[in-house]
Amino acid sequence: MIVKILVVSDFHYALPQFDWLVGAAPAYDLVIFAGDLLDTNSLVDPGTQIVVVMKYLKRISELTRLIVCSGNHDLDAIGADGEKHAQWLGAARRLSIPVDGDTLEIGDTLITICPWWDGPLTQQAIARQFEAAAPRRKGAWLWVYHAPPSDTPIAWSGQRHFGDAALSGWIAQYRPDFVISGHVHEAPFARNGSWADRLGDSWLFNPGRQIGETPTTIAIDTSAMEAAWFSLEGAELVKLDAPLERPLAQLMALPGWMQRAPA
Ligand SMILES: [Zn+2]
Repeated sequence: MIVKILVVSDFHYALPQFDWLVGAAPAYDLVIFAGDLLDTNSLVDPGTQIVVVMKYLKRISELTRLIVCSGNHDLDAIGADGEKHAQWLGAARRLSIPVDGDTLEIGDTLITICPWWDGPLTQQAIARQFEAAAPRRKGAWLWVYHAPPSDTPIAWSGQRHFGDAALSGWIAQYRPDFVISGHVHEAPFARNGSWADRLGDSWLFNPGRQIGETPTTIAIDTSAMEAAWFSLEGAELVKLDAPLERPLAQLMALPGWMQRAPA
């Protein structure tokens, strides 16, 4: 049974943020890492980044359930299809961490984890992944997908949208309950941007990114039906069983269900 979910993304090899996550993870039933664990612009070579990040993933998976999808900075190999993939996440799967391409059930929640698509073949594979997973849905369906859907506030950088139009189409087709993304670091901070949005009945989330030792995070409580976003700029709350109203409620004090979780 998943009640408390911690969502992070886009650490871009910021090791103090991984350290923070190790400390925070035990307070949650599930940690979702929505891509860009590595950074292609880092001075540290990719092989070393992978070794270090895999140690963190192993550690976190020993503390709570962890699932991971790839982002555009995580692609380390060209597959047989000629497209780039996060092949290194195969080592995480061998540690029983669900990754790209996996669909799993936790209680009656179905979770589908999608890869970053670098070309049409991977995009077609994602379409088949949703098609195959759909009949397994009994309760809530949660997707983990690095790019946010197009033309939504969670894809707005402040200058333009960086969303994925294919994802928007799949959301309209399958109406998942939750779509967890990342990718557009500025969206939660930008004017007319956001960390939370709705498309039809689907809740969309993107925690964004900030520098420093504490990452931006979204905490979701499926029993209190609330989600909260935390950043250096403060905290905001949405009620999942009510229509989304803007501006989002400022969170002045931690709700009861967050009391035991590190801020
Ligand atoms: Zn990123």
